[in-house]
Formats: sequence, structure tokens, C-alpha cells
Amino acid sequence: MPRPIQATIHPEALRANLARVRTLSGDARVWGVVKANAYGHGVEHAFLGLRAVDGFALLDLEEAQRLRALDWRGPILLLEGVFETRDLELCSRLGLWHVVHCEEQIDMLALHKTHAPHRIFLKMNSGMNRLGLRPAAYRSAWTRLNALPQVEEITHMTHFSDADGPLGVAHQVRTFEAATHDLPGERSLSNSAAILRHVGDAAMSADWVRPGIAVYGSSPDFPEHDAGHWGLLPAMTLAAQVIAVQHLQAGDTVGYGSSFSAPGPMRIGIVACGYADGYPRHCPTGTPVLVQGLRTRTLGRVSMDMIAVDLTELPEAGFGSEVTLWGRAASGQVLSIDEVARAGGTVGYELMCGLSARVPVQVDPAA
Ligand SMILES: *Cc1c(COP(=O)(O)O)cnc(C)c1O
Repeated sequence: MPRPIQATIHPEALRANLARVRTLSGDARVWGVVKANAYGHGVEHAFLGLRAVDGFALLDLEEAQRLRALDWRGPILLLEGVFETRDLELCSRLGLWHVVHCEEQIDMLALHKTHAPHRIFLKMNSGMNRLGLRPAAYRSAWTRLNALPQVEEITHMTHFSDADGPLGVAHQVRTFEAATHDLPGERSLSNSAAILRHVGDAAMSADWVRPGIAVYGSSPDFPEHDAGHWGLLPAMTLAAQVIAVQHLQAGDTVGYGSSFSAPGPMRIGIVACGYADGYPRHCPTGTPVLVQGLRTRTLGRVSMDMIAVDLTELPEAGFGSEVTLWGRAASGQVLSIDEVARAGGTVGYELMCGLSARVPVQVDPAA
């Protein structure tokens, strides 16, 4: 028997989350963001639940090739654009759309020989100061791009730094509007948080939205709102089993560093999941976990291959019991990845993306 740990991807949840995002996005077309191997879900697995998107957005040419290998003929957008001139040949060959965020990428495009002109998303730095042209440089970049025979159509694009928090998006929307309002072309602004939180805002109406985290069923603004509040379902379950049981007396400690000490008699389970599987090492004693679908807590430090869980109140649980680290238990009970991430001082995004290569991934057999 292989070590009893398993990740399960739920195509039905991806479908439902995508439908939810679509409902909120009005007439906008939807890019399913599948960068980072579909946020750790696997591009091929995610594809099963996300075929209804209008296009896929990602960063790696290798992942674009995998989508084409799945016979996806629709749009694919490279969110960071190309890194060197040679990449443009693959864009032409695979029909990839690409972001242009700097003058160097325009230089490369101007030297590129192609029969089929490219679809470009020209990115403005409206305040995040990561990728994009500043508003003052944006219009001349647009003019230069627009004159290139290698360019077919230019969409205006920007990205929000604070769509999930109190600062919001209005200041960036204003900057973006001021620089683009009289230019022809479609527009793309919103990530998941902007779609969920700022949907009513007229200035947010756009031709393309770019949800990532929401389609995977994690809330971008947890703990202010949880996934249930947004009507999102977990697309990934990480499950393992209890592989040993220990009976503790008062004063007995658990794991490395003896960070947990039993206040009285306890029954604990040792679970075949550790930080080498992608479970966050920083999750302290008390991090929620489901055993046989029932909520309990972790005890002591997370080690490389194991964690301990409290079975004192779960007399039915023992060797071989199902443990849900995040996602959906066999009983249907859900433990949100956001709760676990929060306990470990991080976000659902990082846990999904950090699922380790040694964990086997299956598609939900019930799907
Ligand atoms: C990753 C990414 C998104 C998706 O963000 P979420 O917060 O996961 O919805 C959208 N746009 C760009 C440019 C991105 O890099």
C-alpha cells in the first residue's frame, strides 16, 4: 500500500465556482487563471472543470503547450508576456495572446517575423509597481504598439494591489480610466477579490475578468469573508490517514521540541502528512483538522512526514481513520483551506501551490 496520503481535485467544484464568478461578472468574458500548475491542482485536472472559460491565463509557455495538447483551441494569455525574442515564435505557432508590460517587450515584438499578428494585453502600472507601464508612458507605448504590423488588437489591462482590503480599487480605476478612456480597445481589470467585492461598481465593468483563487474555492479576503459567504466550494482536498495511536498521561509531550504537553490523559493520532507534503510547518497546536469528518485539532509541531491530532473526544477514530487536512471529507464536511492557511500565517494560495510532488493527485472519483 502506498503511504496513505492523497490529494483529490473536484471538477464539479471548479465548474460551480466558475459559474458563480460568471454570474457576478455580467457580460465580461472570463479568463480562468491556471498559472502555477493551476494553483497546484494540475493543469490537466483543472481543465476538466474549467472548460467553460473563455480563455486560460498563465505564465509558463510549457503550461500553454500542455493546454494545446489537451486540444484547447481557445484563447491563452501569457500574463507576464514573453521573456526573450524566441518566445514570440512559440506565441505565433500556438496562437498565444500575451501581455506587454514594458518597452523591451515592444522592441522584441517589433523585430518578430510573423504572418499572424498577435493579440496583446497592454499592461498599465496603476499603482502596484510590479509590472506595467506608468500612465505617462502608457499612451506612447500604445501608439507605438498600435503601429506595428505584428499587432492585431490591443486590450487595456491593469492589476489591483488592494482589491481584497480596505484600500480598495477606486484609486487605481481612476488612474487607469484617466489614461485609457479615449483609446479604442477592450479592457481587463479584475482578479477574484475585485470580482467578489467590487462587482456593483460601474467603473469596474470590463470586457475580460481574470479570476484565479475564487475558482479554486478559496476566499481572497478571508477571514473577513469565508468561502461559504462567497458561495465557493473547495476544489482540492488533502487527505491522509491515522497511522498510529498514542495514549498520553499528564505531562507527556508531543513531537519535536516538546512544544505540546498533555494537561491530562489524552488519546492522539499520528497522521501521515507533514511539511514535506505541503502542510505548513508554522501551523501551531490547535490548527483545525477533520478526523472521520469531525473537527478536532493538531498537537505539537508539524514534522516532515507526520503531525499529531487530538482523538480524545473521538473514541471511534483510530488506526486507518480518514484525516482531512483541508477540503471535503467523505462525510461531506468541509474544512476550508483558508482556516488552515490562517493558522499557519499564510493564505490559501500558498497552500494550494505548495502541495508537494510526492503527494499523489487524483480526480474525484465521484465526479
Ligand atoms: C494571478 C493573477 C490573477 C488572478 O488572481 P486571483 O487573486 O487568484 O484571482 C489575475 N490577474 C493577474 C495579472 C494575475 O497575475
